[in-house]
Amino acid sequence: MAIQPYRSEPLTDFHQPENQARMQEALAWVRSQFGQEYPLVIGGVRHTTPDVIVSTNPANPDEIVGRVSKATREHIDQALEAAWNAFAEWKRLTGEERARYLFKAAAIMRRRKWELAAWEVFEAGKPWAEADADVAEAIDFLEYYGRQMIRLSGPIPLTPLSGEEDEAFYVPLGVGAIIPPWNFPLAILTGMSAAAIVAGNPILLKPASPTPIMGAKFTEIMEEAGLPPGVLNFVPGDGGVIGDHLVTHPLTRFVSFTGSREVGLRINRLAAEVGPGQRWIKRVVAEMGGKDAIIVDETADLEAAAEGIVVSAFGFQGQKCSACSRAIVVESVYDELLEKVVEKTRALTIGQPEAPENWLGPVIDAKAEKKILSYIDWGKEHARLVYGGEKLSRPGHFIQPTIFSDVAPGSKIEQEEIFGPVLSFIRAKDFDQALAIANDTEYGLTGSVYSRRRDRIERARAEFEVGNLYINRKCTGAVVGAHPFGGFNMSGTDSKTGSPDYLLLFLQMKAVGERL
Ligand code: GLU
Repeated sequence: MAIQPYRSEPLTDFHQPENQARMQEALAWVRSQFGQEYPLVIGGVRHTTPDVIVSTNPANPDEIVGRVSKATREHIDQALEAAWNAFAEWKRLTGEERARYLFKAAAIMRRRKWELAAWEVFEAGKPWAEADADVAEAIDFLEYYGRQMIRLSGPIPLTPLSGEEDEAFYVPLGVGAIIPPWNFPLAILTGMSAAAIVAGNPILLKPASPTPIMGAKFTEIMEEAGLPPGVLNFVPGDGGVIGDHLVTHPLTRFVSFTGSREVGLRINRLAAEVGPGQRWIKRVVAEMGGKDAIIVDETADLEAAAEGIVVSAFGFQGQKCSACSRAIVVESVYDELLEKVVEKTRALTIGQPEAPENWLGPVIDAKAEKKILSYIDWGKEHARLVYGGEKLSRPGHFIQPTIFSDVAPGSKIEQEEIFGPVLSFIRAKDFDQALAIANDTEYGLTGSVYSRRRDRIERARAEFEVGNLYINRKCTGAVVGAHPFGGFNMSGTDSKTGSPDYLLLFLQMKAVGERL
């Protein structure tokens, strides 16, 4: 098979009238599909359950996008059995044979990209550009991991002993649990699932409860790509009912999780226990939160810095683990930068994400809304509110983009992940202090520095303790293959998605030495 080099998928230019029209058409079509039922898929067999997750539109919670069956613990047991049965065949295929399924799925997604983006607009409340970028990233993961698996199937260089034939190769681990987040409901779900699958591991996919339909769409696409039954088992359900069972089950070989620090740590702890009859140490791959900072010094291009801060803080309503929640600014430019950021924030359009003019939509659900508003209330008492701070009085979970100034280093809103459109401005007397404040967090995911001083940029490269450092640009929007993505410390296991190393997390190396 001749395989073109990997290139990241181009984003859609919605200024083009024909693209606007296609997206409008896709939105109308998807709306006409609302209210359908999506079954579990176990070993290729569909199961419809009486108990369902009702997926609603965060911009209009009365609107039901669809109903998704809920797995019970018995379904998890069945799915584990089906997946282990599928493993016997699936692990025997070559890396290239497995990669072909990913390339087919990428082609299907590319054909269906308008429709998939439209589903995201309704199920996740993503504005158009964010939804389009998420679909493009899902395609990137499929194309990229397919190629990485082919590369990893090649010979591993060894130093052979005389009189022996020495060889090493990668083999899969076994059946894993994939527990993705709702914030990149297609891209991260696809990346986590495809990586495990292409490495030879059948999976149980438990989508995030706010966005299970995106998981059902992915499952549909992998089936259409011809993936054998049992390799991908779709088991949505309540975390409280099936989550622990899935993680602690002795037949679960590994757990790949993206989500909150709280849940990630719980999974890590539970997975460390050895269940009856369990034969392995479970691997845990965890991508958790962030308390990401953008540092701006007195030499920076303030216009660019203001733009980068606003986009990083409020893109998809701040619901990214990469989002900038702290702007740490050197005193002499603090007021000027704050003013520019407020001005740009004022210009943001907020409203129904299905309308192309809206740059900001709702937050994901009532629980998120409540949590974000409680941080905002705290901020109103302990810092200076300079912009926003209110829920919009209309249906849907809309919260104004909110900016607090004079936030104290070490204080609650400066330390805890809010996962919403809330930005704290923090004063630093100089660059050194700014870097110290930025590093004073248990997280370590993304960070940016805006500066024209080479020595400071070099210091940040060495001393800013984040998995993803950006210089003179925003701290969100990692591109598969270009920006291996994942954080240090409480941000997770630094398992870099979209990197040449990622698939190794789902493989083990076997070495064979044969006497000649
Ligand atoms: N990869 C995304 C970015 O660079 C963030 C992923 C996340 O929020 O989990 O913005």
